[in-house]
Amino acid sequence: MPDATGTAQPKLQGVPNAGDVFGENTPYGVGGLGGSSAGPLDVVHVFWLAGMSCDGCSVAVTGATNPSVEELLAGSIPGLPPVVLHHPVLSVSAGAGFTRAFHAAAKGELEAPYVVVVEGSIADDQAFPPDEGYYSAMGAGGFDPESGGSDQPNRMTDWVVKLAPGAAAMVAIGTCATWGGIPAAAGNVTGSMSLGDFLGQDYISTLGVPVVNVPGCSPVGDNFTEVVAGLLLFLQGIAPLPELDELGRPAWQFKETVHRHCARAGYYEEGTFAELPGDQECLVEIGCWGPVVQCNITERGAINHMGGCMVAGGACIGCTMPGFPDKFAPFYKAPPGSALSSNISRTTGAGIRRLRRLSMAHANRSPIWDRAGEVPSAYSRRASKPTTVSKVEGFFYKRLQYRGTVDLAKRNKRQPQPKTMNFFAGEHEQDLARYTPPDPQAGEGAGREEL
Ligand code: SF4
Repeated sequence: MPDATGTAQPKLQGVPNAGDVFGENTPYGVGGLGGSSAGPLDVVHVFWLAGMSCDGCSVAVTGATNPSVEELLAGSIPGLPPVVLHHPVLSVSAGAGFTRAFHAAAKGELEAPYVVVVEGSIADDQAFPPDEGYYSAMGAGGFDPESGGSDQPNRMTDWVVKLAPGAAAMVAIGTCATWGGIPAAAGNVTGSMSLGDFLGQDYISTLGVPVVNVPGCSPVGDNFTEVVAGLLLFLQGIAPLPELDELGRPAWQFKETVHRHCARAGYYEEGTFAELPGDQECLVEIGCWGPVVQCNITERGAINHMGGCMVAGGACIGCTMPGFPDKFAPFYKAPPGSALSSNISRTTGAGIRRLRRLSMAHANRSPIWDRAGEVPSAYSRRASKPTTVSKVEGFFYKRLQYRGTVDLAKRNKRQPQPKTMNFFAGEHEQDLARYTPPDPQAGEGAGREEL
């Protein structure tokens, strides 16, 4: 519908019943509700644009499980409208049939809300006229066939310019789109930048949302689909905008460091470090930046809560961070700041580790074995006696442990030993059907015909 100046304005469906949930005076936009006045939404279109990209984000998203892409497309999650995904790789249509909906949205004729997802960096090709070239493109023929169109490919940046003003939300997926990433590294000739840098700090979507950034190279697929689900609830008007941090990242996904939840953090604390890839200890001395990198891969895993960099043996190279890759290069070299902290933990960890091993040895003996003075297990015949050191440590440990409470160590000392312990070592020894190993010499010299 044209505004006062005659310019076509993007149409959005709305959510009139949103106020029923949060109160009719709750403001729309950031911090408030989404939608406008024509919902509930029957469908939301998602337009996927690929710029300077390797398609790794697409691959990651197709592996998402909570929610999965299939669930979003089917609208099988209660409260979420079905999604129509227009993806240059995943969509079954091609050519003009595929770009038709993109054109409709660009002209404000889609008649449904849409979200734009950008994968890959934004190249600086708006800096020169379209007939002088492009870096990435989708479709061809221009955007105005009535004026003769164009024989040039439609630049990806043109699509962004045309779709961003009417989008309900612009989502940058992956580190190339969120911060510039590898295509924007030192020495690049494309002038690549992030979606946010391209649109500028004044950009907000039709629903008042700045660019939403889900970084990672490639990102965790679930991080993205979870954010999309949150945005869809927001569009429906039944949930507030997902919490974003000062860089537009989903705050709950990126507020913690990799290191805090790393499966190897215990090794760091005890001051033991890997020397080679494949070692099981902390990877900081072979280039892990986890202590300063905000990412949830260590909690969430790569796919379906499985895998992830450090779990799979890979040092964190900071791929979710705006400084990636240049500020983390050269990869697999210890970060300069790590020497201080790792040497401190090496010093303190050495002592702590030994004390813990003593406690562990103590905890690895049942009270029955303590009273017996040995571990009556075939595996422990040679190492079953407590040492003087472990006895002294156990004495003080138990005093501290049970201080102010029931002294279970004393009670255990008074506990009678089970009478039938070591059953087959006594009078029942002959009952034990022993396995007699074969004599390896027995068949020696046998002729082939005997075999
Ligand atoms: Fe921290 Fe990296 Fe070591 Fe994990 S491997 S404990 S993230 S330094």
